Amino acid sequence: MIHRSIQQINDMVNGKLVKEKYVSQGMIKGVSIDTRSIAPGNLFVPIKGERFNGHQFLADAVKSGAAAALWCEDEPMPAEGIPLIIVKDTLEAIQQLAKEYRRQLPVKVIGVTGSNGKTSTKDILAALLGTQYRTQKTTGNLNNHLGVPLTLLSLAENTEMAVVEMGMSGLGEIKLLSTIASPNAAIITNISEAHLTELKTKEMILQAKLEILSGLRENGLFIYNGDDPYLSRECRILSMLAELSSSPVLQIATFGCGADNDIAPASCTVEKQGVTFTLQGEESCPPFFLPMLGKHQMYNALAAAAAAKHFGVSYDNIRQGLLQVEATGMRNELIEVKHLTIMNDSYKSNPTSLRAALDTLYQLTGYQQKFVVLGDMNGIGNEMETIRSHREIGEELDAEQISCLFTIGSLAEHIASAAKKHFPEERIFSFQEQERDELIAKLKMLLTEETIVLVKSSRKLQLENIVNTLLKST
Ligand code: ATP
Ligand code: MG
Repeated sequence: MIHRSIQQINDMVNGKLVKEKYVSQGMIKGVSIDTRSIAPGNLFVPIKGERFNGHQFLADAVKSGAAAALWCEDEPMPAEGIPLIIVKDTLEAIQQLAKEYRRQLPVKVIGVTGSNGKTSTKDILAALLGTQYRTQKTTGNLNNHLGVPLTLLSLAENTEMAVVEMGMSGLGEIKLLSTIASPNAAIITNISEAHLTELKTKEMILQAKLEILSGLRENGLFIYNGDDPYLSRECRILSMLAELSSSPVLQIATFGCGADNDIAPASCTVEKQGVTFTLQGEESCPPFFLPMLGKHQMYNALAAAAAAKHFGVSYDNIRQGLLQVEATGMRNELIEVKHLTIMNDSYKSNPTSLRAALDTLYQLTGYQQKFVVLGDMNGIGNEMETIRSHREIGEELDAEQISCLFTIGSLAEHIASAAKKHFPEERIFSFQEQERDELIAKLKMLLTEETIVLVKSSRKLQLENIVNTLLKST
């Protein structure tokens, strides 16, 4: 984590140090925006949010041992005896501090963005790099305008590799994050419907994700999913430009199942324990095993492998690293209790990630029954597009594979009604959000030996409650 004197931090943010008489000799050790998690010696950065103004919590920060604080010039001067660095805007200042700190570090940064699979790819890549380098990664999903600066400020001085997740909900956001993190390599996992509501078209989503290139260092590596129709169309032009240029500003590597990708599988088997795959051109090597669920996770592993290879990680270490991935929870988690198996994917849902989860479910064998519990998919376009997307999923559901379909929420109801065209009605159960208990009761009534239940929906519905209740009562 950042280890600098108060004067150095003041210089890094172009601030104005006041209450200088309180400055002690010690170094600032770390940055916190939250007085509940602040540690002694930290720099407190109060942020003005929609509901709270962090400046009101300075006394708590001091009580917890904050050694100094950034302070917005518009806020009244507080009584607390603590050095303050006055800045125009504390959010901009923490971003500036992170940018400057990153600039001072020898660390190589790999930025990860895309519609689905950022966190998974970040976790896999950190495991691969960790076999050879001192590596740090974004904690959980801290991928926004505050999360990225905090991630960078948490880097140890001697960290060699940092894997930084970058999320967005509108244009300009990834550009800012990429400029702060100044990555040596940038990954775009794919382009899908997530954030279609805000950005209107997938082309705009593509543009927003491509902003990751704006901070990429000269001759940095751009890794993208060559199977993704949106990415491959646009990026082919970039590839041509990179090839034509005599002093390349950009190196490019593609991943995917298409044979023309730079890194592609020669074979792939999906089982409940994980995915086994071999690589084209490396068929004589032993297979790779990724202990994560679904072919889509192999895509994330391919992206990570392309980056790791670029930074000199051997295939043997990549094979080893895949076995050590520490995945973040609720994403395609397989939980087994007695005769019940739950595929907990209650963190996020959009048509692409739902199709990936359903494909995974279809490929798993050895179950007497396969149930799916599907909640609303939010944020995937205007009302008409959203309803159409839900209906399309309903029409596609494989009645031979799925024993019972449960939907929850008013949007997911459209999945149920579209499924009725080809799915026996007695195997479809539709519930409103407030009927969670009824859904659980019905599902439990129908459980038999060896049932697998896929639970997937957007975050808003918090379907992990259903998962937890089922687990508790099994
Ligand atoms: P967020 O935008 O919320 O940060 P994310 O991009 O970090 O999401 P993950 O958390 O890795 O994505 O995964 C979210 C969901 O997408 C999970 O349900 C996971 O199963 C699915 N998923 C992960 N990778 C892919 C992929 N490459 N293609 C399609 N779906 C994927
Ligand atoms: Mg994420």
